[in-house]
Amino acid sequence: MNGWSRRDCMKALGSGALGAGVAGSVAASPRSDGGGGGRPPAGASDGALALSDFQPRSMLHVKETKVASPRFPVIDVHTHLSFTRSDKKGVSVGEEVARLITANEAVAVMDRKGIRTLVNLTGGSGAGLEATVKAFDQAVPGRILTCTEPIYGQFLDPRYPQLQADAIGKAHAAGARGLKITKTLGLYLRERIDEGPLVKVDDRRFDPMWEACAAHGFPVFIHVADPEAFFLPIDRFNERWDELGHHPDWSFHGRDFPSFKEVMDARDRLFARHPKTQFLALHVGHDAENLAFVGESLDRFPNMTVELGARIGELGRQPRTARRFFDRYQDRILFGTDAVPPPAGEATPQQVFKDALYEIYYRFLETEDEYFDYAPAPVPPQGRWCIYGLGLPDAVLKKVYHENAMRLLGLPA
Ligand SMILES: [Zn+2]
Repeated sequence: MNGWSRRDCMKALGSGALGAGVAGSVAASPRSDGGGGGRPPAGASDGALALSDFQPRSMLHVKETKVASPRFPVIDVHTHLSFTRSDKKGVSVGEEVARLITANEAVAVMDRKGIRTLVNLTGGSGAGLEATVKAFDQAVPGRILTCTEPIYGQFLDPRYPQLQADAIGKAHAAGARGLKITKTLGLYLRERIDEGPLVKVDDRRFDPMWEACAAHGFPVFIHVADPEAFFLPIDRFNERWDELGHHPDWSFHGRDFPSFKEVMDARDRLFARHPKTQFLALHVGHDAENLAFVGESLDRFPNMTVELGARIGELGRQPRTARRFFDRYQDRILFGTDAVPPPAGEATPQQVFKDALYEIYYRFLETEDEYFDYAPAPVPPQGRWCIYGLGLPDAVLKKVYHENAMRLLGLPA
């Protein structure tokens, strides 16, 4: 997820409604949305306007295309329909899994939006995984595919490397379709699970796990770094200031966190050491702001592919560079959204599992519309800018929408 942790999700679930104050304001003051209540918006009479009240409306008279359904069937390889319930300082432990939606509710959205299959990445492990596969994959065969996650709760067991490899085999037998690695690895997991030095992404204790994934044909859906701005000070120069204001725990600046480059270097060593393992590097290779670097990585690692989740805001503000990237790497890019069902998903409007979200993705990929919102929210939640459509040709769209995913997941044509 885009900075989402299982903990965020549980917080959202617990609090019920997260809508107010999430999309609008960063400052502590209540948001003025014209709906009455709270203080009047600043700037009406005194000439001052708080950034948190600023919601400019574009005066451009340009084409606006509604894309209610995609030109070709879609496989969304990046969703979070379930979560492991317990955690120790951001590290998921235990086997109890919470599901945020029913299979039939998910399928209703899928049928309306032309989605053939969803991949539910955070399916947990053990008994929780089995129950989730039953509730999703087996309830609506072919429509929802669930992945497993590492058994970090057993990390202190000296046999962990082998236990973890065995857990991949058991997950495969239970019907899981891949392994999800969240940024727990590299940014949360510590030597004593929640204490001690951080464990590096390329730590040797995980080598048997990566090899087991290759042996069972499990793609690894990996997310190890966030936008570079999350590793920088939260100051007036930080372009994701609004977002970090809403989610201060997404900041990896200071303390004992590695730098962005250190995380990416460890990732590269991992990809190089396990050439038979397929790594789907989520969020455009965790570096959508630097497509030249992502392209170099794809050139370097034949076992790497990328996915779009929660990054059309980045791709769409560099439409010419992004279009060249799609042309060149059209066989290595998969469609994904990082969608989380409401109400939990409302905390991150760029990821909320709703019709409106998919319509924005389709508009971005299919049209050449200019300067539109990348998320269904009154203020752009990841940074205050708008995006431009790529207008991809049919042949490329088909690959990105489903053909590349079918190959990676080994789905029948
Ligand atoms: Zn995700």
